[in-house]
Amino acid sequence: MKKRTCFVSNSSSCSFVCEVCGEEQSGMDLCLSDAEMAECENGHIVCCEHMRDQVNNLPIETLRSIYSSFEDNEDDEEVVDADLKSVVSDRIFDGDDGDYDVRADVCPICQFSNLTDSDYINYIEMTKGTVRSDILGEIQSKYKSYPEFMDAVKASKTK
Ligand SMILES: [Zn+2]
Ligand SMILES: [Zn+2]
Repeated sequence: MKKRTCFVSNSSSCSFVCEVCGEEQSGMDLCLSDAEMAECENGHIVCCEHMRDQVNNLPIETLRSIYSSFEDNEDDEEVVDADLKSVVSDRIFDGDDGDYDVRADVCPICQFSNLTDSDYINYIEMTKGTVRSDILGEIQSKYKSYPEFMDAVKASKTK
């Protein structure tokens, strides 16, 4: 699921949308690191800060295993537990792939800390057995116009 949108007509303006907070960054020749976003190994694009927040919540064993996966650790340099969080969050985007293919351990979506709209929809469809066309038919039969539908949605949220 690539969220990158590029318009490669005569300019190369790109934009990225964070799947956690919805923030959008766009610009000419923008790359993920310029946007301060990263993509996890399962293709989620999120702000780097959400991944760093996730690092802060990881148990020490996970931090230790992430640390040992870094390639250029010096053998004689043992990182103490107290420093692991900051070392891991500083280096999590330093690998060969940089902001791409970031480990799922630090992705808030892969860790079930956040539910994306598409996962929400997929889950509802899977468990309730409803499909988009059923829902559309139901909406069509209940509401005469789009504003009427919007009003009903608004009213249900203020309950
Ligand atoms: Zn974000
Ligand atoms: Zn992910």
